[in-house]
Amino acid sequence: MPTYSYIAEKPEEGCPSCRKGFDLRRPMTRPALTHCPLCRRPVKKLPAGFNTPKVTKPLSITDAKAAGFTILEKRVDGNYERL
Ligand SMILES: [Zn+2]
Repeated sequence: MPTYSYIAEKPEEGCPSCRKGFDLRRPMTRPALTHCPLCRRPVKKLPAGFNTPKVTKPLSITDAKAAGFTILEKRVDGNYERL
């Protein structure tokens, strides 16, 4: 079953799930999801291969670099920002 990524059309109005984007496994025969199953706000399908920021499954730094992200390590008042 293919996995599709969706994100709220208006992230500022979405629930915590669709605001950041979520993945959904769905049979190809089913029509594309148009509304978030949790908050019923309009969602749009993300292009395949789009990497959504996941709160449940954080990217490792290696994965993030491989995906083209620039990893910055900042130091503010002696505190390290989480990478
Ligand atoms: Zn939602």
